Amino acid sequence: RFITFEGIDGSGKSTQARLLAEALEAAGREVVLTREPGGSEGAEEIRALVLEGDPDRWSAETELLLFTAARRDHVEKRIRPALNAGKTVICDRFADSSRIYQGMSRGNLRHEVDALHAMMIGLEPDITFVVDMDPSLGHARAKGRQTAEERFEDFGVELQHRMRAGFLELAREHAQRCIVIDGAREIEAVAADVLGAALARLPN
Ligand code: C5P
Repeated sequence: RFITFEGIDGSGKSTQARLLAEALEAAGREVVLTREPGGSEGAEEIRALVLEGDPDRWSAETELLLFTAARRDHVEKRIRPALNAGKTVICDRFADSSRIYQGMSRGNLRHEVDALHAMMIGLEPDITFVVDMDPSLGHARAKGRQTAEERFEDFGVELQHRMRAGFLELAREHAQRCIVIDGAREIEAVAADVLGAALARLPN
């Protein structure tokens, strides 16, 4: 089974992805915990190309192609093989992040995102946790751990508000696989919700 975590920067999804991986492993499942952009050797190199250095180096369209190339490599080299081996794959961000970030942050490329996804990726998660919270809180958290080379944390609070709405809209569009989790609570409370929902949906 393929599980993804999505949400705005600072929503705590990386922590929740890790805690779910640990809990499922403790319950005896074989789990691969991975992340985007990156997750495979080639995709990590593309991540560095996109996230480090001059933010204006790539146009929005080129950036979308780079993220898609990274995802393709990640799916080919890491996600598909693990799923085929019967493992549970937990990924911190996946195509929904492109639908929101490349789709709406630097123009309106949602159509291009969806077309490229259909052509080159195709894979959708079985379960997606959308970790939701007020962007001011997420922003404060993200700022707290900002690293110089990761430019994307600099999206303003206003854009984060639009992205939050975008993620919630996506969750409604893909209600079959998406579960919205209130991420503004204690880490343990959020993790308990996530684990409960995952166990209810995963086959034994
Ligand atoms: O989730 P993480 O903090 O590792 O993501 C790194 C940055 O890349 C984030 O700040 C996010 O805004 C950006 N990103 C993006 N498009 C994606 C995935 C991540 O712009 N598809």
